Parts: sequence; C-alpha cells; structure tokens
Amino acid sequence: MKVPTNLLRDAVRYYTEFLEPNYGSDESKQLVFALTEHFFGFDRLKLAFQPGHRLSESEMLTLHFAVKELKSGKPLQYITGVAHFSGHRFFVNTSVLIPRPETEELVNLAADFCRRMEHSSNVLDVGTGSGCIAISIKKLCPQARVQGCDISSEALSVARQNALSLDADVDFFVCDIQSYDSGYQPCTFDLLVSNPPYVLYADKIDMKSNVLEWEPHLALFAPDEDPVFYYRKLASMALNCLVPTGRLMVEIHERMGETVSNLFTESGFSGVSVYHDINGKERFIVATKQ
Ligand code: GLN
Repeated sequence: MKVPTNLLRDAVRYYTEFLEPNYGSDESKQLVFALTEHFFGFDRLKLAFQPGHRLSESEMLTLHFAVKELKSGKPLQYITGVAHFSGHRFFVNTSVLIPRPETEELVNLAADFCRRMEHSSNVLDVGTGSGCIAISIKKLCPQARVQGCDISSEALSVARQNALSLDADVDFFVCDIQSYDSGYQPCTFDLLVSNPPYVLYADKIDMKSNVLEWEPHLALFAPDEDPVFYYRKLASMALNCLVPTGRLMVEIHERMGETVSNLFTESGFSGVSVYHDINGKERFIVATKQ
C-alpha cells in the first residue's frame, strides 16, 4: 500500500504529490481535499483538528481510485457527481456539460425578467442538459412555469433527477432543435432561454484535454461551416413560440456578439442587446419579439 499508516494526513500528502505534475501543487491539494470532503466529510479544517484520523481500507481504495481518475484528466465534478451552480448542488455525469459559473448570469437575466412580469411567466430552456438553468430560474422565480428540453434523453434523465432532488417543479421533454419546424406550440412562452453548443471545432486546439475528452461534444460544438446554426434555429423557434414582447436570451461565444446580434435583428427581433460575463467578455444576448 502507498500509505502504510492509513492516516488521512499522510494520504493527502502522498496524493497531492502524485497529482502535482498534472495540476501543480495548489490545485492538487485543493482537488485532494475536495475528494476527502466529498467522500469522508473531511476538509482541511477538520483534518487540522483531527490530525490522527485514519481511513479504513475501503476508504483508502475509494480515495485511490478517485485520485487515479483525476490523474487521467477526468474532471472532479464527474468523479464526485456534484457541480455547484447558482447556489445549488447539481448532479452531473458525462451526458451533460459541467455548469459554468458565467452561465449563472444568464439565470439572473432570466429571473429579473420573470420578476418584472405582472403575471406568472412561462419559460422554456432549450438544450437544458443538467437542467441547471431551468431549475435555477424556477428556484429564483417560484411563480414561473418552467420547462426544459433537450435532444439527449440521457441528459433529460439527469435534469429530472436534479429537479427531484432540488424540489423544483420543472417539466422536461425531448426536443430536437436541428429539425425544429415552425408548427410547434405557437405563442406560448414569455421567455426562451438557451446555452446552445457554440464552440467551434476549429478552436479544439486551444481547449483543455479535460473538457475535450470528457464533456459531451453534442453540447459543446457548433458546426464549423455554420457557427450560428443553433442561433438561427433558436431565432425561428422563438419567433414562433414567444408571445409578442416575449424575450429570447442566449449565451454566446465571446467572439460571436456582433454576428448573433445581427442575426437576431435581421430575423425581426427588436432591442437586441449584448451583455458581458463576470470576466468582461461578451457572453449573452437578449432580444425581444415585436
Ligand atoms: N462555455 C463552454 C466552454 O467554454 C461552452 C458552452 C457551450 O458550448 N454552450 O466550454
């Protein structure tokens, strides 16, 4: 055995060193403590108070295999099955994207809009994945009727589990926006929100391997020959499904602000505005159906 004492503090030291070539010393330590907290309820502080804490053989094995997964590049959230977003704990697996902190701002834009409405709003999240956007909106605006849809039934089963465990009354259904045609639920929604696939295959070279090798490409990549493919589909869906003065709110690639704004304006939306994310990058577009 690599840690003959079974002392948690020795295991933390050993596995931190083991991960160091991959993640550097600070991140390695954080990752190891994230695992010990998740599996055994021991964070840095608790260990400081109980320096003599020993792990059982089976706990040692759990930690060992989890660290090996980290070493192979698997993201922490897929190992623990937990991702924090908008103040909630979401279950995630490799069928869904790990929620990104900047997307919380899209939730806030959506929730502000729902709160300003006089009647309870009707909201649809297209390409919902883990359901993090739809569920977080529902938590912030309990009066709203919120639904989420996705092409992936595996993703929908994750979203449904999250709705259940977070006690959010959100309905999820299958939808394929690629083959969307305009006959569907006309003028029903006050708000369509979406974080569609927008990464270009051409940008693959700049991406970290833990994203590229583990996260679902279906949720990440837009076709290179038509980078705004999903935005065009969302625009036509929104023109059909939204009530007049309803809003379309989307997350975008930081370099797509102008292109997607023009697309929405040319499609007939008014008041098209670009919003920045927490890092000051163009990240969201809000458009109003006339
Ligand atoms: N923001 C995500 C990333 O940078 C991509 C999300 C998406 O394609 N919608 O990986």
